Amino acid sequence: MNIEELTDRFRRSHGYERLEARAALFDMDGTLYDSMPGHARAWMEMCASAGLTASPEDFFMAEGRTGADTIEMLMQRQYGRAATAEEVERLYAIKSANFRALPPVEVMAGAPEAVKACMDAGMTTVLVTGSGQTSLIERLALDYPGAFGLKVSSRDVRHGKPRPEPYLRAMEMAGVEPWQAVVVENAPLGVRSGVAAGVLTIGVATGLPAQVLAEAGADIVFNSMRECAETLPELLYHMSRF
Ligand code: CA
Repeated sequence: MNIEELTDRFRRSHGYERLEARAALFDMDGTLYDSMPGHARAWMEMCASAGLTASPEDFFMAEGRTGADTIEMLMQRQYGRAATAEEVERLYAIKSANFRALPPVEVMAGAPEAVKACMDAGMTTVLVTGSGQTSLIERLALDYPGAFGLKVSSRDVRHGKPRPEPYLRAMEMAGVEPWQAVVVENAPLGVRSGVAAGVLTIGVATGLPAQVLAEAGADIVFNSMRECAETLPELLYHMSRF
């Protein structure tokens, strides 16, 4: 299916009379920054030191969950019991230290061009992240100048992804309705959050196979942020041509 057909299928399935490209809502980890391999590595090193069995894919799939939820998943799976508060705190501290010891995270190739395509189209761009990683959030102003004055982080919502609240909050900030926005996400939980908010959700397969994002409900799936950046002008044109 081409971009025009996918856009129109989204519009009809939601009963929207028309679409308008007014706000672009961007996830951060794995979308604007190539941070997921580092997170997976930091988790794997923690697991090795704590005697927990895991694979890197576990952490790509769990992306968007809190650290506490991820540790809970590991303990339930291996020992069939809940993690204690002490374990959560200790194991997450190890993971965080492992992550900080890695080389600095790089900007995702193609992401600045994708953000620029939205800004060039006159859209408001909003950051929507579950991350509390201030170091990366502070870099946004340098790496994406002028783009993310509006931000929704874990502190701004009660129920994070895959619930719709983060994206609903972002639309409220931007003053737009679901038919006037797009979501750009790389992980299944984030895709589900965008879909639940009623927004046209672009899944970008920067870590997981494209199929996983399609199964999570992404309306359009790209294989890279470069491909996303190249196709966005056409997509935004189709959204606004009514
Ligand atoms: Ca992400």
